[in-house]
Amino acid sequence: MDYLPFHRPSIGEAEVEAVVRVLRSGWLTTGPEAKALEEEFAAYIGTPHALALNSCTAALHLALAVINLRPGDEVLVPTTTFAASAEVVCYFGATPVLCDVLPTLNLDPAEIDRRVTPRTRAVIAVHMAGQPADLDSIRAAAARHNLVVIEDAAHSLPARYHGRMIGSDSALACFSFYATKNLTTGEGGMLTTTNPAWAERARSLALHGISKNAWNRYTESGHWYYEILEPGYKYNLTDLQAALGRVQLRRQEELWAARRRLVALYRELLADVPGIRWPEQLAGAESAWHLCVVLIGPETGRDRDAVIAALHRAGIGTSVHFIPLHLHPYYRQRFQYAPGALPVAESLYRASLSLPLYPSLAAADLERICGVIRDTVAAPV
Ligand SMILES: *Cc1c(COP(=O)(O)O)cnc(C)c1O
Repeated sequence: MDYLPFHRPSIGEAEVEAVVRVLRSGWLTTGPEAKALEEEFAAYIGTPHALALNSCTAALHLALAVINLRPGDEVLVPTTTFAASAEVVCYFGATPVLCDVLPTLNLDPAEIDRRVTPRTRAVIAVHMAGQPADLDSIRAAAARHNLVVIEDAAHSLPARYHGRMIGSDSALACFSFYATKNLTTGEGGMLTTTNPAWAERARSLALHGISKNAWNRYTESGHWYYEILEPGYKYNLTDLQAALGRVQLRRQEELWAARRRLVALYRELLADVPGIRWPEQLAGAESAWHLCVVLIGPETGRDRDAVIAALHRAGIGTSVHFIPLHLHPYYRQRFQYAPGALPVAESLYRASLSLPLYPSLAAADLERICGVIRDTVAAPV
């Protein structure tokens, strides 16, 4: 049988044509397409400021830069996340303080009161797998301790929280347009903010710390003169990528609906399979369904690794999101984390299995996947 990959990007003819149009235009890097993507993204999310960048990691870095993170500061980060969410804190000589999560896979807001110190400046709320974190509780706790909430929204386009798009009222939200994400430009990202001063500073930092609108210095209306305001970075998104992103942006509701239908089918097909659980869903939150994480727990006597191996033998790609950061060598050695330090995250990790979830999957593909899972968990361990 054909190999069924873990992910396949949803790229159509419109995306191909958009990139070719830019190739023929004579303007390849940051320009009118990037500006249009920023405006369209900001309008879609419902936020005043959006800055197109070459990754979500860059967006997270700039978010910490605009709040003036200093060496020795601390930032609270859930341990169940990708490397990027915490490494950006290390860029500043600051300390990522890893926190446990809830059975939703998202940051446990009670961890904020527990782990805050006089050096804590911010909390990074990751919307894991696309499901919004408990922002009401996180924001309330952050306000008590005067912390900035930075949202790692890499998974959560176009998730809703109390009916509003994630990012619409976020102080700082960081989106990813990486190849596997819900909106892809191959590599890319977006920083959104409700704070105009932060938006202006981030825009300058993203392009060498140069005074604003330097990108158009080569156009007819541009001017040769610019000023370096501080040492910045090279984080701009090209027009080749932005043109692709604009087409993907227009398709977000359609792609989201397709993923939701697939998740409903997975739930149906797995409903009577013993030992399969789902991460808890937060009331008032509508997941973007970036990932389809199911839990096959040792506590139910089922072997997650055996299911992964069986799916692999059957030619089906899967993944695990994520190995908790505190179990990785760098964090273990630098901060002396022992296994068991963040127990909820660890038990979720041992049970987590991410199944293929992308619009080109057919019902027959899901039947094939779920058939292998059913056969494997039926066998006693
Ligand atoms: C993908 C991802 C990122 C990083 O995104 P890039 O665009 O690749 O920099 C950050 N956080 C999470 C949770 C991610 O999954």
